[in-house]
Amino acid sequence: MSKIIRRQTRCVQVGNLVIGNGSPITIQSMTNTKTEDAEKTLDQVKRLYTAGADFVRITVPNIESVKAFQSIHDEVQRPLIADIHFDYRLALLAFEAGAAKVRINPGNIGSWAKVKEIIAEAKHLGRAIRIGVNGGSLDKKILSKYGSPNAEALCESALEYERQFLNEGFDNFVVSIKSSNVLTNIRANRMFASQSNTPLHLGVTEAGTPKVGQIKAAIGIGSLLADGIGDTFRVSLTADPILEVFFAQDLLRVLGERKEGIEIISCPTCGRTNGDLIRIVNEVEERTSDIKTPLKVAIMGCVVNGPGEAREADLGIALGLNKAVLFSKGEIESTISAEKCVTELVDRIRKAVK
Ligand code: SF4
Repeated sequence: MSKIIRRQTRCVQVGNLVIGNGSPITIQSMTNTKTEDAEKTLDQVKRLYTAGADFVRITVPNIESVKAFQSIHDEVQRPLIADIHFDYRLALLAFEAGAAKVRINPGNIGSWAKVKEIIAEAKHLGRAIRIGVNGGSLDKKILSKYGSPNAEALCESALEYERQFLNEGFDNFVVSIKSSNVLTNIRANRMFASQSNTPLHLGVTEAGTPKVGQIKAAIGIGSLLADGIGDTFRVSLTADPILEVFFAQDLLRVLGERKEGIEIISCPTCGRTNGDLIRIVNEVEERTSDIKTPLKVAIMGCVVNGPGEAREADLGIALGLNKAVLFSKGEIESTISAEKCVTELVDRIRKAVK
């Protein structure tokens, strides 16, 4: 089976996890509550970690949110990332409050002297930084050289910041290069990856609703990951952030980088389909979403082709007229009633993963 050949990078320590250097690709998401509302934000942080996020980022726009960040950090005991814009002092306070990493766009921090203060503190405390580069905060010099925030401009800006950070004797940082234009995004990250060994955080900005955002992420992030580029990523969606984590997991599963959970294989339905296959697939998916053990489960619309087409599945059902067959590795195990096929299959799955 094909496997992603990962790009060789430096390793960056973020709390108890490592980004890069061949370590598993990590999933990030971000809270969308008001950070100052520590209770609500903590609840969302916990939900995101339970859903499968490896890192959760929280925006820290003011002093009140630093206090909330501190209390959330003390409670969750997982690496938290602080999102900082404009005010370098908030980055210093976030480190003090326990941030394992801060994300900054050096382009909007105000001056290199202020960015240097953040670097010095990260170095002193052994924390990490994400250097964010996007069209909106590009250095004016680079922008006027290229005329627009194209891939070359984004890549040059990222390489320039990388050089400046390394000159400070600090290398515990990752870089993200983001554009809302998917092709610019892909080109800029490819260019940077070919010239650097810094781990890359991938994402597509302003990706939109789940309907379009998932496609943008599948292409903009998925194609880079398939090429071995990218060590951590966030799927940005205008939606409940839990969906970002679910979609990110599916993306990694499709690429063979994550195996946990039930992978459902189902046929596209056709004129031979018996029963309401679409409803059955959705019900099984929902009722097994808590299972972490890897298992391939097939749900097929006819007995004639189903078991054979889904030979690779560990378990499966194929629908017949008023009945269904339960099969394992292509071999029929038993005949069950069509009406109870969801319950019977879910029971059989739970037995298999015990
Ligand atoms: Fe049609 Fe059967 Fe193939 Fe499903 S498995 S697409 S029902 S032939």
